[in-house]
Amino acid sequence: MKVLVLNSGSSSLKFQMYKMENEKVLAKGIVERIGLDKPVLKYERHDGVKLQETIAVKNHDDALRLICQKLVDPEQGVMKSLCEVEAVGHRVVHGGEKVSQPVKVDEGVKAIIRDCCSLAPLHNPPNLSGIEACEHVFKGTPNVAVFDTAFHQTMPAESYLYAIPYEYYTKYGIRKYGFHGTSHKFVANSTAEFLKTPMEKLKLITCHLGNGCSVAAINGGNVLDTSMGLTPLMGLVMGTRCGDIDPGVLLHLSKLGMKTEEIDALLNKKSGILGVAGINSSDMRDLEHAVQEGKAQAKQAMDMFIHRLVFYVGAYHTLLGGADAVVFTGGIGENSEFVRGLIVPRLEAIGCRLDNAANHKAVRGKAGVISTPESTLKAVVMPTNEELMIARETVRVLRGA
Ligand code: AMP
Repeated sequence: MKVLVLNSGSSSLKFQMYKMENEKVLAKGIVERIGLDKPVLKYERHDGVKLQETIAVKNHDDALRLICQKLVDPEQGVMKSLCEVEAVGHRVVHGGEKVSQPVKVDEGVKAIIRDCCSLAPLHNPPNLSGIEACEHVFKGTPNVAVFDTAFHQTMPAESYLYAIPYEYYTKYGIRKYGFHGTSHKFVANSTAEFLKTPMEKLKLITCHLGNGCSVAAINGGNVLDTSMGLTPLMGLVMGTRCGDIDPGVLLHLSKLGMKTEEIDALLNKKSGILGVAGINSSDMRDLEHAVQEGKAQAKQAMDMFIHRLVFYVGAYHTLLGGADAVVFTGGIGENSEFVRGLIVPRLEAIGCRLDNAANHKAVRGKAGVISTPESTLKAVVMPTNEELMIARETVRVLRGA
């Protein structure tokens, strides 16, 4: 069974073609700069065949048609006909309160995605364009929407409500939704398998640390709380996002004369590591180098990153009434021995002690425990794979599970 996974952004369309019998990626790639000058297609086949072409595409329909041409190309492709694709799985960022599971796309589901455009204006419109492009190109092939917010829908009201007048929730849907749900679910499942313990018996704190960062407290497979909010701006210090901030700061900036769009850009695109570290970069690798070179402002940014993460892990440990494991994933969580080496020693008070050798040996792409055997709270490194999760969920929905 072949499943195509799509992740469409405002000017990009990422794809992975899976053979589900062995979960092998047959081909993957991206069309970038859709609707801009010099769009480019990057394509990679499982056997190492790689190409990059400048192409002419005006919209997501054009981009998908080009991807499909490559997938069935006699020389560079991976199948004879598009009919071999049994379903397309789509990453959709916001499903609001109406979806708590991946779903087969119909007009009702499209209406939900459309309704949530005001909550995710940068993501939901292109996600919908990706689905509509598939409806045009793959006539009759089922589309499945896998929502970033869905896994977090188990949160209780005391976690997701903001303490503002209740009608702002009922009338406008202003509440915490949480994001990165597909990744949190994937690593929670993988951790349960890795620890050979059923998910229902596990209490986990999953830390997705990439360009965007979020933490989730998961009790028996249900999310109890998560650090992102109405938008992906809340919570941890991130590459360019500020995370938690006194809402009074926004009022103050507004009184200083800043416009809404300027405040939006400041908090979403110019803050976090980029805003604090003084290294003109939001990349954790650059921050690590700068810290190792002894740059004081960079150390300040790193200290803030670690402090905020320790704060959340400690709080979630208490909310869960103790936990079995804290799990690190995402570009930083999976790859940065340095960052893990700063966080885990700060968790000793809650029973987690770093095993330096295990942290050093942790290999990218492989699960591993980096805490000492005596630790009552395990520290686990777990690779995430949102595309594979979307492919698996797509199959599950098709089979009616
Ligand atoms: P992601 O959004 O999951 O792709 O993660 C991107 C982040 O991971 C960036 O901040 C990268 O600097 C960081 N990252 C990737 N590889 C490493 C590495 N080897 N060491 C430290 N950070 C890394």
